[in-house]
Amino acid sequence: MMNKWLEKLNPKQYQAATHIDGPLFVIAGAGTGKTRTLTTRVAYLIENAGISPESILAVTFTNKAAKEMRERIIDMAGPYASGCWIYTFHSFGVQVLRKDIERLGMGYTRNFNIIDEDDVKSFIREIIKKLNMDSKHYKINDLRNKISRFKHFNEDSFDDYNEKMVFQSYQQELSLNNLLDFDDLQLLTFKLFSEDHEVLERYQERFQYILVDEFQDTDHIQYQMMKMLAGKHKNLFVVGDPDQSIYAFRGANYENANHFNKDFGGECVLDLNYRSTVEILKFANRLIAQNQHRPFKKNLESNLGNGKEPFIWTAPTDFAEATMIANEIIRLVKEEGIPYQDIAILYRNNALSRQFEDTLMKYNIPYVMYGGISFYQRREIKDILAYIRLIVNPTLDFYLKRIINVPRRSIGPTTINKIELISKEKNISMMEAIDYLDINGKTMESLKNFKSLIFEMKERLESMETLEEVVMYVAYQTGYIMMLEEEKDDISEERIDNIKELKSVFVMGNEFYEGTFIEKLQQLLDQIALYTDLDKAQQKDAVVLSTYHQVKGLEFDCVFMAVMEDQIFPSPQASMDPRDMEEERRIAYVGVTRAKRRLYLTRSEKRLLYGSFIYPRASRFLREMQPTKEILTKFNKEQTGTPNTSFLKPGDKVMHQIFGSGIVVSIEGEIATIAFSLPHGIKKILENHPSIKKV
Ligand code: ATP
Ligand code: MG
Repeated sequence: MMNKWLEKLNPKQYQAATHIDGPLFVIAGAGTGKTRTLTTRVAYLIENAGISPESILAVTFTNKAAKEMRERIIDMAGPYASGCWIYTFHSFGVQVLRKDIERLGMGYTRNFNIIDEDDVKSFIREIIKKLNMDSKHYKINDLRNKISRFKHFNEDSFDDYNEKMVFQSYQQELSLNNLLDFDDLQLLTFKLFSEDHEVLERYQERFQYILVDEFQDTDHIQYQMMKMLAGKHKNLFVVGDPDQSIYAFRGANYENANHFNKDFGGECVLDLNYRSTVEILKFANRLIAQNQHRPFKKNLESNLGNGKEPFIWTAPTDFAEATMIANEIIRLVKEEGIPYQDIAILYRNNALSRQFEDTLMKYNIPYVMYGGISFYQRREIKDILAYIRLIVNPTLDFYLKRIINVPRRSIGPTTINKIELISKEKNISMMEAIDYLDINGKTMESLKNFKSLIFEMKERLESMETLEEVVMYVAYQTGYIMMLEEEKDDISEERIDNIKELKSVFVMGNEFYEGTFIEKLQQLLDQIALYTDLDKAQQKDAVVLSTYHQVKGLEFDCVFMAVMEDQIFPSPQASMDPRDMEEERRIAYVGVTRAKRRLYLTRSEKRLLYGSFIYPRASRFLREMQPTKEILTKFNKEQTGTPNTSFLKPGDKVMHQIFGSGIVVSIEGEIATIAFSLPHGIKKILENHPSIKKV
C-alpha cells in the first residue's frame, strides 16, 4: 500500500519516513523537509504499520508548531491519529505530572497550577520586598535567570546569601501553594522518570516510537529525558539543523548531536530545499558561511527557480520603514493575490513591535502577534491611556474604574461599588456621583483629591499645543511614574520605558493629524481604540508579527526582516563575544530561511525608540548576505571616517555618565559616534565632553 503523501517524498525523505525500527538522526538544512518527513513518518507508522496512535510521542518546541504538526498528521492519517501524543516539552511534562506528581512525595498534588513569566516576576518582586533587599542592586530579571539556571544545572550562580534566600523563598512559596513554573514542568518530569522506575517503565512501554523536531535546540535535560523514554524500544527519531540552533542562551546544547551518535547512531542527510527560491537561498548560504563553528557544513539548494532577488530597503525613519512595508503588503495582497497570512514581519525582539502594530492598524491591515504582549495591551499603556481618556471626557466610567485606585489612593472596591450605585440611581456619571457619596474621613478626601486632580489636568491639557506634551505630563502628574519609580526594580524600569514609547506614538500623531490640539488628541485616541479592537478580533487571515524565535520551523510566502540595524540585530552584547555573534547570525539565518518567494530586508537611518531618537547603522548581516564586493569597500570607507587627531579612536571603550559603557564606532571631527547598550543605542557625542571617560 502506497499512500499519496508518501509518494510526494524524495528518495531520502522516503527512506527516513519509512524507517521503522531503530534510532535515526535526520540532519539537514532549513526547508529540506525535516518536519514533513517526521509527520509523514507518524502517518506511515499509523496507517501502514498499524501502530496505535497512543504509542507514539512527537515533541517539538512551540505550541504553534505542535498544533501545525497535529493538523498535518490528522490530514494524512485521519482523525484516528489524534490519539498520538503531540506536545511541546513543557506540555508533555504537564500530561505526565497531572497523573503522577504525587508520587514525587514533594507535597505537590495533581491539581497543581502553572504560573507564567509574569507571575514568576511578581513573586520575585514580593520576596525582594519582604526580605528588605535593595531593589536597585538586585534585579528581578537577573534573579529570574539565576533561579532558572540553578534549577536546571544546579549551578550555583548566586552572588550572595541574599540571592540564595530569594531562591529558597521562591521555591517555598511555590510548593506551599502547589504551583509549578515552566522550569518545574520539565525538571519535575525528569526527576519523576529518574527516581520512579515504575512510572518510567510505564511510559517506556507505552511509547514505542518517539520523534523530536528541532533537535538542535534541545537542552541536556530534554535529551536525557528522551533517551530514558526510548530506553526500551530504542526508536528515537530526531530531526534538526545545527545552523538553526538559537537557544544556546537557554542551555540548548549542540553536543546532543554527538551524544545521539554515541548513544544511538544512524544518520540520514537531506539536501534539497523545497521552500525557497534560489536567490533567497544564496543570501542564506552567504550569511551562514560566516560562522566558524559549524558541525555540519552544507549549502542549501533548490529546484524552485531563481525567483526575485531579496530587496534591501533603507528608510529615512522608522515610521517610513513601517509605512513602506505596509504599502508593499497592500500591493502584494491586491496585485499578487497573496493572502495576509502568508506574509510575516519579523524582528529581533518584542520591544520593536510597536511601530509595525501602529502602521498596520492605520492601514487597516489585520495582523496577529506571536508571543509577546501587543503594545497596547500592556498594563501601563492601558492605564495611562485610561487617564487620558478620562481627562478628555470625565463621564467615561469604564476608565475611571480602571485607574481610580492606581496608584493606590485607598479607594477600595466597596467605595467604588457605592459610587457606581449612586450613578445608576441618579443616571449620572460616576465622576459626578462622587459628590453625592455619604461617607466621611480619609476616603472622601481621597475621592475629592482624585476628582480635582482629573479636572486640574483637564484644564492644563486644554491649554497644551502639541500632543507630545500629554503622555509624560499625565504620567507624572497622576503619580504613576512615581509609583513605578518607588518599586525601583528593573521590571518597573521597563514599564517606564514603555510609557516613553507611548510618547513616541503621540509625537508622531502630532505630524499625522490635523485640527486643534483637542481634535488631534481625540483622533489619536480613536485610532488607538480602533487598533485595540482590531487586535482583539484575532482574524485568521492576518499578517504575522513576530520575533525570529517564535517562527522557528514555520514558513511564509513573503518575509520582511525589519529593523536590520546594528546594535539591535546583532544585539549589542553580541559584539563582545564571538559565540554570541554566531548565535545572532543563526537567528538571522532562521529569518532568511522562513521566506518562500519574497524576502525584504529593511532598516531605517533614524529611529524613535523609547521616546528619543537614535541613528543606527546597517546590520553587518546585510553586508554578509549580499554578493558584491563594492558594498564591502564602501562600508570600510564609511567605518574609517575622516582622519583624526583626537583622543578617542574607533574601537575605544568609554564610560558615559548617563548612557553607561559604550564603544566608539567612528570619529568625525570632534563628534564621536558611540554605541551604547540598548535602550540608548548609537549616539553622537562631542568627543571631549566631560560626560565621557575613556576606560
Ligand atoms: P525548518 O528547518 O525550517 O524546520 P524543514 O526541514 O522542517 O524546515 P519542512 O517545513 O518540512 O522543512 O518543509 C519545507 C517546505 O517544503 C514545506 O512547505 C514542505 O511541504 C515542502 N516539502 C518538503 N519536502 C517536499 C517534497 N519532497 N516535495 C515537495 N515539497 C516538499
Ligand atoms: Mg521543520
